[in-house]
Amino acid sequence: MTFFKGVFYKDFISRVKNSRLYFVSPFVFIVACSLSRSHDSQAIQARLLQKGKIKEDTSWVYSLPYEKGTSHLLVQGYFSSLSHKNRAALDFKMKRGTKILAARDGIVIRLEERNNKGGGNRKFRQYANLVVIEHNDGTKAGYWHLQQNGVLVNLGDTVKQGQVIALSGKTGYSAFPHLHFLVWTNKNNSWQQVPTRFMTLKGLRYLRPFRWWRNP
Ligand SMILES: [Zn+2]
Repeated sequence: MTFFKGVFYKDFISRVKNSRLYFVSPFVFIVACSLSRSHDSQAIQARLLQKGKIKEDTSWVYSLPYEKGTSHLLVQGYFSSLSHKNRAALDFKMKRGTKILAARDGIVIRLEERNNKGGGNRKFRQYANLVVIEHNDGTKAGYWHLQQNGVLVNLGDTVKQGQVIALSGKTGYSAFPHLHFLVWTNKNNSWQQVPTRFMTLKGLRYLRPFRWWRNP
């Protein structure tokens, strides 16, 4: 009996030692959750806005960043796991050289158009051509992956919603020709990407992916 108790005790101790893993893994899990929680709650909120389950009618109405009467397929939406995991950004599939229109009035505060490299690997990220426009409420919109020499405005220019500002392309981290569009807002001194409402043929919408969206 004592022998069995001894075996049982040793077994018990080794289980306790091993069980440190059980204490460590929930800790790691909780830390991981708290790190990603802000993006998770943003992602959940974005889904509810896209499905119309959260109603809001006070935010700015953006226009689709391409010509009136044209449609483009939204191949990636907000916070998707492909390359927008922590990004409130939209990817519109479009042929190289498609006219990009300002989605909102503003001032050109950043641009790059010298690059001519692009591909589906993060190492190409540094080669993106882009335009960033600041709006009068301090938010900013970014237009990414433009073609080489495809920026049609200058730094400091005032642009109007619907004005042609650039030509699309495939520069930077981009596996196929598309426009990556995003809006940032400053919250508590840090820039955060946010979903925005658009005027579409179907009315005011937070765009859902895998659909064609027509600029009315
Ligand atoms: Zn993108």
